Amino acid sequence: MGDLDFFGGLRLTFAHLTRPRVTNSYPAVKRPKQPRQHGRHVLNRYEDGMEKCIGCELCAGVCPVNCIHVRGLDNPPDHPVSPGERYGYVYEINYLRCIHCDLCVEACPTQAITESKMFEFSFTNRADAIYTKAELVVDDDGFPQRLPWEDWREGEAEMTGGWMRATSPAGDASFEGVVQWSADLGFGVRAAEAGQSEHRDDQATGSKQLRSSFSRHLQPEDVPLDQRGLAALLRTVRSKTPRRRPQGERA
Ligand code: SF4
Ligand code: SF4
Repeated sequence: MGDLDFFGGLRLTFAHLTRPRVTNSYPAVKRPKQPRQHGRHVLNRYEDGMEKCIGCELCAGVCPVNCIHVRGLDNPPDHPVSPGERYGYVYEINYLRCIHCDLCVEACPTQAITESKMFEFSFTNRADAIYTKAELVVDDDGFPQRLPWEDWREGEAEMTGGWMRATSPAGDASFEGVVQWSADLGFGVRAAEAGQSEHRDDQATGSKQLRSSFSRHLQPEDVPLDQRGLAALLRTVRSKTPRRRPQGERA
């Protein structure tokens, strides 16, 4: 008799009856999102309010579906828009095409373009689906602008570009937890999202709530050591102890 016999299946069912529910009444209730969620883009600004985009068009060049349209222009000497020689004069993203691969985020030399966590947006016409620079650039407090057809909730506007901050630059894992990031308007230098390393700061990156919720549904041996209680520890020991077979039972 193996673990997955009839009674073994029932045992599994009853074990899950006492566990917290993982489903909720979406979209009335949204689950906290991962720090590296790829959602709607934002164009970031430096702490002094200047735009980070220098109109270099690298993001447009790397985009696999050609959904970014950028045009750069020389900065006006008397009121420059960005610290560079040029700035992004036109910037558009066509969300009917975007596959949220984040290659544009990785290609950008100034961390101007990043993605927020918000993916709950839909359109009734093509014009709304093409986001312009005026819609993408963060507001004077550094937050993404909230368009009428977007469903923003608490926290979703705060941690833009978490995925990039996990391993920047260029996805090198040795940069996990290392800040390689210029300060953002309204936020200063944001915490590095440290991926799977022990340097992970769940509190600073807003992922603590999510990780605590998930760990309750993991197998005992998969829960990180610092999150194991006495009961979980006992379960782990029991699961690792070979089961004594009743006499006569075949392996
Ligand atoms: S996320 Fe990918 S598909 Fe979307 S705009 Fe960026 S590069 Fe293009
Ligand atoms: S968002 Fe970045 S890569 Fe794209 S044009 Fe601006 S500076 Fe260049």
